[in-house]
Amino acid sequence: MELIKIQNFIDGRWQAPATGSYLKNLNPATGEAFSEIPRSAADDVDLAVRSAELAFGHWSKLPAEERSQYLKKIAARIEARADEFAEMESRDQGKPVHLARRMDIERVIQNFRFFADFILQKHEEIFPEAEFTSHVLRKAVGVAGLISPWNLPLYLLSWKIAPALACGNTVVAKPSEFTSMTAALLAEVCLEVGLPAGVLNIVFGLGSPVGEAIVRHPRVPLISFTGGTETGRRIYRDSAEHFKKISLELGGKNPNLIFADCDLDQAIQTTLRSSFLNQGEICLCGSRIYVEEKIYPQFIEKFVAQARQLKVGDPTDPKTFMGALVSEAHLQKVKSFIEIAKEEGGKILCGGDAPELPAPLRKGFFLNPTVITGLAENSRCVQEEIFGPVVTVSTFSSEKEALEKANGVKYGLSATVWTQSPEKAERLASHLNVGTVWVNGWLLRDLRVPFGGMKHSGIGREGGRDSLEFYTEATTVVVKQ
Ligand code: NAD
Repeated sequence: MELIKIQNFIDGRWQAPATGSYLKNLNPATGEAFSEIPRSAADDVDLAVRSAELAFGHWSKLPAEERSQYLKKIAARIEARADEFAEMESRDQGKPVHLARRMDIERVIQNFRFFADFILQKHEEIFPEAEFTSHVLRKAVGVAGLISPWNLPLYLLSWKIAPALACGNTVVAKPSEFTSMTAALLAEVCLEVGLPAGVLNIVFGLGSPVGEAIVRHPRVPLISFTGGTETGRRIYRDSAEHFKKISLELGGKNPNLIFADCDLDQAIQTTLRSSFLNQGEICLCGSRIYVEEKIYPQFIEKFVAQARQLKVGDPTDPKTFMGALVSEAHLQKVKSFIEIAKEEGGKILCGGDAPELPAPLRKGFFLNPTVITGLAENSRCVQEEIFGPVVTVSTFSSEKEALEKANGVKYGLSATVWTQSPEKAERLASHLNVGTVWVNGWLLRDLRVPFGGMKHSGIGREGGRDSLEFYTEATTVVVKQ
């Protein structure tokens, strides 16, 4: 099979990497290479930054209406090619095609449309006093460095690109080396709609040197990064040299608190999704499930029985719930946690193994939904992010205990609370040290509200007004009457 070869997208055209070398890119469902991506270097990043700097002068001065029109055209072209985008995302990442279509690509379109509209709304900040009036000018920052992970590839990259461009910045973006293909499709769309050269540049390749060169570049004043906590720590340090504006969306180890007064069937149904959707590879998946003691027997019996029924396998089959994990290395990492759980005294109630699949899927990176009980709170599987289809389940007997357990990890991204009592839900939300709390639901999202994490889950918030503030610099003007 001939491999698809993509190139860097710099200055409005395809450019080979300075190294002249490429990385083989695998389809996780078959373990076979299907494409090659540039193994770029710092020189390519420098070229992209220069192009973005040149384009900034024109782009940042365009009326917001014109920038908004470009974003709308990009959204419309992606919508017209949505099936193609979804198939490519699935082939690159391992997730089911129907999920890529419904969740990822739908959201990519929404990201562009949302910020195209949002930038046109009134965001004036004027404060009249008796003797003087203050107002705030918001200006584009400059070249935005945007770095994204492999789990929701274009979904997360476009969540950064759309607001950055809407606010008048130009962009140097780097998708994950494991999932670069839909970013190349986005570059095609930018050519189709005539986005001016240099406004969006995409450099493909490894975190080091490509991501690192973006973060360290003296003329990239803003970094938005989504990825692992350890990488985030390094980026935070590397960007300190130039006091960059920075947003870090990092790992999670999210608790699901299931109280006895909840709608149990609904809780189980949604918890199956929040545990295993996208192979458990969503930073917002609830990987620690805590169930109130008195309903634990009912919960665990039904939950495990239904987890066993989830269809794992061919990502092109509309009935498949879980596809393949993103890479062999990631599969091995996830499996190593299952071994650790056994050593830590955990009991594997289901999963831990791979489904029997025919060729060519036999060589894919599959793992069945895995449910583990019997672990102490300080065990590694309860404390550390696994980022796969693996959940731990244990109990609590009071609200206080539930909260202590929920907050007892270094992460603070999200939590889910299942209860029929609005007062209890509100009380818990006010004590949970996380960026988002869902009550009787999961993954519901209004793009106007702040999104981000606390503690080791990150710094800063993006979404709506928070994105506007992050992707602009404020100048306060005070006029004496
Ligand atoms: P990762 O940190 O390994 O890589 C993320 C990106 O950073 C990739 O593009 C990578 O090439 C790049 N990178 C690596 N080293 C770099 C460096 N030194 N400088 C600059 N860039 C560098 O993460 P991953 O394995 O791709 O993604 C999984 C992680 O992402 C999980 O921890 C998950 O929780 C997290 N995540 C968080 C959110 C959120 O919103 N909080 C969303 C999705 C994923």
